Amino acid sequence: MSRKKKKTLIRILLAAFLLVVLHFVPIEQWLGDLIVSLLPGSATNAAAEIGTSSSAASAAVNAADSSLCNTVTRRIVAIVLYLIPYLIIGFDVLKGAVRKIGKGDFFDEEFLMVIATFGAFAIGEYPEATEVMLFYQLGELFQSIAVDRSRKSIASLMDICPESATVLRDGGEETVDPIEVEVGETVLVKPGEKVPIDGVIASGTSALNTAALTGESLPVEVAPGAKVFSGSINLTSALQITTTAAYEDSTVSKILELVENSTDKKAHSEKFITKFAHYYTPAVVILAVLIALGCALFTDLGISTSIYRGLLFLVVSCPCALVVSVPLSFFGGIGAASRRGILIKGSNYLEALSKIDTVVLDKTGTLTQGTFAVDAIHPNEIDADELIDIAALAESRSTHPVAESIVAAHGKHIDAGRLGDVEELAGKGIRAVIDGSEYFVGNGRLMEDIGADFHECHLPGTVVHVARGTEYLGHIVINDVLKKDSPEAMRSLRDSGVGRIVMLTGDNEKVAAKVAADVGIDQYFAGLLPASKVEKLETMLSDNSHVAFVGDGINDAPVLTRADVGIAMGALGSDAAIEAADVVLMDDHLSKIPEAIRIARKTMRIVRENIVFSIFVKIAIMVLGALGLADMRLAVFGDVGVLVLAILNAARTLRVPKA
Ligand code: ADP
Ligand code: MG
Repeated sequence: MSRKKKKTLIRILLAAFLLVVLHFVPIEQWLGDLIVSLLPGSATNAAAEIGTSSSAASAAVNAADSSLCNTVTRRIVAIVLYLIPYLIIGFDVLKGAVRKIGKGDFFDEEFLMVIATFGAFAIGEYPEATEVMLFYQLGELFQSIAVDRSRKSIASLMDICPESATVLRDGGEETVDPIEVEVGETVLVKPGEKVPIDGVIASGTSALNTAALTGESLPVEVAPGAKVFSGSINLTSALQITTTAAYEDSTVSKILELVENSTDKKAHSEKFITKFAHYYTPAVVILAVLIALGCALFTDLGISTSIYRGLLFLVVSCPCALVVSVPLSFFGGIGAASRRGILIKGSNYLEALSKIDTVVLDKTGTLTQGTFAVDAIHPNEIDADELIDIAALAESRSTHPVAESIVAAHGKHIDAGRLGDVEELAGKGIRAVIDGSEYFVGNGRLMEDIGADFHECHLPGTVVHVARGTEYLGHIVINDVLKKDSPEAMRSLRDSGVGRIVMLTGDNEKVAAKVAADVGIDQYFAGLLPASKVEKLETMLSDNSHVAFVGDGINDAPVLTRADVGIAMGALGSDAAIEAADVVLMDDHLSKIPEAIRIARKTMRIVRENIVFSIFVKIAIMVLGALGLADMRLAVFGDVGVLVLAILNAARTLRVPKA
């Protein structure tokens, strides 16, 4: 517990102790008697009665005078006595309210508490005023403990922050803050330690636990040359890693930044609460005044009971449980998701995710692995080796999965000196200058564009045509494999209530039909350019569907941004995808999508439960109060109780629902 919270707790205990003492020990009485007997008025009165024989009338006046004086004195004594615990427990609330009145923006719960308790003092309910403040502070304390807890548990669940880095400098080891390590330096990571900064393995082989980043529990084997991400834990043997980024640009920093900023983007229900509180408080104050006036004028309750009813209404209407538990629930949901390698960029997206009824998926790299194997090489005029040489050279600068697969299949050294200007034509292929002449490598659409005399292949698969100028040189047939969990993930998506699943692809009709059938998707559109993917998505959005688009971030950024929720897969290490998407899946398991939807639905359910529950209890106490069946103690106790239950309920979002 922080020092501030300890202090608050001590104040609560002290004030509670004083209240108990005041309740059981008649200090009020004693002190009152003492002061009354010491007052000069009472002494002279007594003397006058003994010494002179004044008239009965003036004696009566004197007696009345002194008894009024005595009541006032006793009242002041009681106020002063109860002010001690009241101030012990409430001075900061008073200070806060005064400061806000100064700023002109004072209609908040602190202000409510101050008027309510001052009012109670004014009508002589001193113990009650103090108790109300005490309960209020207890609630506040509980709330800050809960917020802290959930922050901490998210941090420790993610547990990815490296405390230090061991750098190899001047032939020795030096332990420094990760911020101080420069790009290109070599860090040593021993077994059991966290990789502090993104980099490439310079020497050593080991297994890494990337669970904190991806939620994947199986260790990943790594060897020299492999990319490693900060936040993974080295398991078996020491590694030397050459850093490729500064700490601020490393995966850990990015994830933490994302999770921390995620609460800035507020969901509708959260914005509603803030607005609600803004109009609500003044409305409630006015209503309370009306209630007090109404009771005083139209009933025979008497002034002080009428004021009391008004004050009671004020206390009951304090919306703390709502104001606290809603953001806390979102915070928990986002935390639970990030623990599973699902980064959600704001509570608004969590809310949007919970409503998704249509999921649109990209094919290459999303439903399929995106690593193509070469099935056939069909040259025209030139020989097969030359054809793949040219294709690999043209593709060597592209990061498209087709390009990377052709380069990998070629496998030989690429003489970059032969390569001139290269242009990537999204959804079509590549235009490249090789040995001074212009080549085109890509799909049928590209060949049509340039007017090459090409022919389609009889083999199933993605066909990569090659042309020199308009002269057709032949084609390479490549095939991708489905991700193992794709069919299962589609089933699970349907189970979680997604009615429509659609695949979009720039690949040809034949491949699209086969992939769609294999994964069990009923609707697909093939041969699309990135821009026509956006159009298709827009037609789906226009019939009031709530659409999520899932892509790998390679040339589908426009669709990712346009969808209600853009989900990028396999994003570990890909900045473009992290930028464009609203939800980022750290690994490329499709099962994370239904999981994200389930977490979102659970969070929203808890948010709604909290809203309904606290409003219900409020109204119940208001009704009881109006009937004269509830007092202020019950009201505040009810409020704190609702707050505690709402917080406990919100904490449930941290637990990931089972499939
Ligand atoms: P998808 O919609 O399946 O993710 P893209 O829109 O990235 O695919 O690409 C659509 C098609 O364009 C691919 O199937 C391929 O035929 C062709 N293509 C795109 N980029 C390249 C490239 N670098 N080399 C060859 N063909 C490409
Ligand atoms: Mg793609």
